[in-house]
Amino acid sequence: MNIFLVGYRGSGKTTVAAALAQQLNWNWLDADVELERRQGKTIKEIFATQGELPFRDYESAILADLAKMQRHILALGGGVVLREQNRQLLKAHGQTVWLQAPAEVLWQRIQGDVTTAARRPNLTAHGGIEEIRTLLAQREPLYTAVADAAIAADQPPSEIARQIISAFKL
Ligand code: ADP
Ligand code: MG
Repeated sequence: MNIFLVGYRGSGKTTVAAALAQQLNWNWLDADVELERRQGKTIKEIFATQGELPFRDYESAILADLAKMQRHILALGGGVVLREQNRQLLKAHGQTVWLQAPAEVLWQRIQGDVTTAARRPNLTAHGGIEEIRTLLAQREPLYTAVADAAIAADQPPSEIARQIISAFKL
């Protein structure tokens, strides 16, 4: 059994994974960090040189490996829910939390986060809050389908962690 954290870029998956790991005394891993480590490139560089499809293949391969862990908290990439194969892995290998936030909150956080700006690509031609609105509309049904719990992401990380523990009676 693992806890998977899903949600849009900037929803706080990495931050909450660390907070939850501390409260539960479990280990945690970040799939995006693992992907960049294995490829020796940032996600932005992979998108620029190889495009989205190879990136999605790397992402699926890493998820398949990480899902085999036991009692780990796994922060996943924002688009991991796009593939049916990935959604099935989540269902089979743990409990999934969707960190839910409005586009305005996500946009403010992404703008304020230097790591995101340097390492994450635009996913549509326009970028900005319009990109977030477009992709959220596409992805929300998938986050809903895959999530065992949806938690409001605009609360302090320690409080989100507490609610996850309570939702799954951990
Ligand atoms: P993700 O891994 O989902 O892309 P991060 O955990 O990297 O998101 O967080 C993105 C930005 O938002 C960071 O600057 C982080 O400090 C901030 N952040 C994350 N969670 C919260 C929160 N609960 N409240 C306020 N700011 C947050
Ligand atoms: Mg992250």
